[in-house]
Amino acid sequence: ALNFSGGPGVLPAAVLQQVQESIASVPGVGLSILGISHRSDWFAAVVAELEDNIRSLLGLPADYHVLFLQGGATQQFSMLPMALLAGRKHAADYLHTGYWSGKALPEASRVGPVRVAWSGAAEGFRRLPTDDELHFDADAPYLHYVSNETVEGLQFHRMLGRDDVPRICDMSSDFLSAPGDYSRFDMIYAHAQKNIGPAGVTVVVLRDALLKAAPDNLPGFLDYRAQIAAHSILNTPPVFAIYVVLLVTRWLRDQVGGLAAMDRLNRAKAALLYQTLDSSDGFYKGHAAVADRSLMNAVFRLETPCLEAEFLGAAQAAGFSGLGGHRSIGGIRASLYNGLGLDAVEKLVEFMDGFRQKHR
Ligand code: PLP
Repeated sequence: ALNFSGGPGVLPAAVLQQVQESIASVPGVGLSILGISHRSDWFAAVVAELEDNIRSLLGLPADYHVLFLQGGATQQFSMLPMALLAGRKHAADYLHTGYWSGKALPEASRVGPVRVAWSGAAEGFRRLPTDDELHFDADAPYLHYVSNETVEGLQFHRMLGRDDVPRICDMSSDFLSAPGDYSRFDMIYAHAQKNIGPAGVTVVVLRDALLKAAPDNLPGFLDYRAQIAAHSILNTPPVFAIYVVLLVTRWLRDQVGGLAAMDRLNRAKAALLYQTLDSSDGFYKGHAAVADRSLMNAVFRLETPCLEAEFLGAAQAAGFSGLGGHRSIGGIRASLYNGLGLDAVEKLVEFMDGFRQKHR
């Protein structure tokens, strides 16, 4: 089935093949990836190469650490305020733009003062704020936002915040999907399971200077400095997931041709899908304001909501998987992560046009 799931994304076919081979035996090692020690020199080299690949894909200077942590993006909701907000007088600025930023907020509030700089809740998270609506606090310890709201299909197409306040971004669902000015972020985190690999590992990049005032009494596992000192091998890491992310970064660099090429492909996929919504005479209705539409997750409803179950059933029968909207809002969501090819989207829009013609 062609997989449009908003949860785990699809691995590119070329990578999937290497992953399958590595389960039998990793080339040059002679052991299954599932049985290689995390204390081996081979795995230390995997981590070092992956750090370099991510640094170079994002264009980050040497004063950024690249970490591979566990606990998902959810653990970052707590781990980052524990390092940067505990004991602070000034509130951190948080944007509340959808489901996932709404999960980050209460976790930070448990640790220290938080100010909601803008919230789209009253409008049902259908749009993102304009610059006129945003006023950032110069004394905030940091600004936190989510670049792509996976559930509502809202994506910031610009950089937010002020250069004199650390900028922290959850990029779980658009990480490594496009080039950008990433060194203007002090910290970026993203779990792997959308664009870059299987669940089990979360990439965190952070500027060294960000941690200078972090408390000394954090549990070791939740202290970025301990993870940095251990090169992400503080305890047993998810060796398999980290290796797959390495293969995906090589694919991005060598086969796709880098983030600019990835972005061109992602834009082509999204354009095709949104064109299909926009030319459907209202049969398909997009959730997000046009200017804030996500290139990763296209969220929409049918004009006649009672047809949605039929749409999903027919799509499943036609070989399309994962199109159901997130349980919090229902409807339909087509996720177009990096590993999904343009051909899959071409097939989906053909199906959608056919379904519309049949039910109009
Ligand atoms: N942030 C975003 C933007 C997400 O899309 C998700 C999950 O889909 C999360 C955070 C939570 O991630 P995890 O399940 O890895 O904790």
